[in-house]
Amino acid sequence: MSAPRVPGGTAARSAALAERAERVIPGGVNSPVRAYGSVGGTPRFLVAGRGAYVTDADGVEYVDLVASWGPALLGHAHPAVVDAVQAAAARGLGFGASVPEEAELAEEIVSRLTLPVPGAPASVPLVERVRLVSTGTEATMTAIRLARGATGRPLLIKFAGHYHGHSDGLLAEAGSGLATLAMPGSAGVTAETAAQTLVLPYNDLPALEAAFAEHGDRIAAVIAEAAAANMGVLPPAPGFTRAMIALAHRHGALVILDEVLTGFRAGPAGYWGIAAAEMAAADVAAEGGPAAGAPAEGGLVDAAVLPDLVTFGKVVGGGLPLAALGGRREVMELLAPLGPVYQAGTLSGNPLAVTAGLTTLRHADAEAYARLGRAAAAIAEGAGSALAAAGVPHRVQRAGTLFSVLFGDFPEAPTTYAQVQRQEVGRHRAFFHEMLARGVNLPPSAFEAWFATAAHDDAAIERVLAVLPHAARAAAR
Ligand code: PLP
Repeated sequence: MSAPRVPGGTAARSAALAERAERVIPGGVNSPVRAYGSVGGTPRFLVAGRGAYVTDADGVEYVDLVASWGPALLGHAHPAVVDAVQAAAARGLGFGASVPEEAELAEEIVSRLTLPVPGAPASVPLVERVRLVSTGTEATMTAIRLARGATGRPLLIKFAGHYHGHSDGLLAEAGSGLATLAMPGSAGVTAETAAQTLVLPYNDLPALEAAFAEHGDRIAAVIAEAAAANMGVLPPAPGFTRAMIALAHRHGALVILDEVLTGFRAGPAGYWGIAAAEMAAADVAAEGGPAAGAPAEGGLVDAAVLPDLVTFGKVVGGGLPLAALGGRREVMELLAPLGPVYQAGTLSGNPLAVTAGLTTLRHADAEAYARLGRAAAAIAEGAGSALAAAGVPHRVQRAGTLFSVLFGDFPEAPTTYAQVQRQEVGRHRAFFHEMLARGVNLPPSAFEAWFATAAHDDAAIERVLAVLPHAARAAAR
């Protein structure tokens, strides 16, 4: 392979590939944000990735802060993951039958989410049974069907700006690509389907209480990202998640915690691991008693403050199409073949994806999370100081190892989608292009998280830090 070219070229090959793709693929892309709609310019076609770097079709190498939108926790083409997948491929690409590794991956998920909780003699598993599917969209769609099957109720509550995949009922005021394209929802969703989803402002407990007061006995579930990360990173306000779970349970509704993006990335046990530790600390601060808004007794051990279903994706598939949902045994066993809620998949639990996920999780040890955390902190702080030095109004948002930069004046931490929609996306556009021209691949959207990896070593971090002041000055103009 020839030496990587310096950044800032014409992207001629990417442009030619985009033109070719547009002739046979709508918009030239198979997922809308890849089209660079909100930043303009030529979307880069990528041909290789290794560690913290990706290379485009013109031979230009970038420090990558997209990480396949999350899955590449260990960096691109981690040798152990590639070797394991190659060995699995040599044994057969899939059989449509159970393979031994499926249970190993399910066990790994269960054990990672078996956490110590205050007041309990031992750790408590958040999920006892796991079903493997192929995409995050399938995981949330199945979790919702399961919640409706379990409760016999029709309605779902979601929060504005949260993204849970592209199934019909979940596209109203969603984050991610819809936020990027400023789309309130999608054509092709029937009014009847849309009417089954109540969309509420995030972190707004009175709005949630009002929805339950009005529709309580018809609400099957509340679905929420564990920490919102598809409208910029917006962690839940202190106490919100716990109060949401307690309220839903008081009304007989389930809570689906969506960890597709945050799972095994925000921290080793996802964002829930961080939230549970914070809740435990709040309980201790309340002198051993439960924190305000918590149920009268039981603390975290009380099922009233544990989510019922959790969805996973991205990291859990190690870069191949795999996602999962998990939950308490009695809920999960309502799934076919044991129960009446149907779900199936030709490629569900296929051996390549399971192997990629399992190998990734097994290599995602404390040291890997420490490297990831260090890279995330250095880049987040570097972005903040560069923007401050250039006089660009901004706010750096963080949740565990996840972070994003909001462009605009946000004197207080925003808590809702309506607030982050006031971003100055023009500044992001200028910032994005300067970073790209100087060899850093950022998400092409002001609403997406930046994804570091455990492979972002000092050299990669230094390269990003060197470019940030130039991009900040571009955003100041
Ligand atoms: N849920 C969340 C929180 C996500 O961030 C995503 C994707 O970005 C999804 C669900 C959908 O996952 P997928 O794109 O694999 O269908």
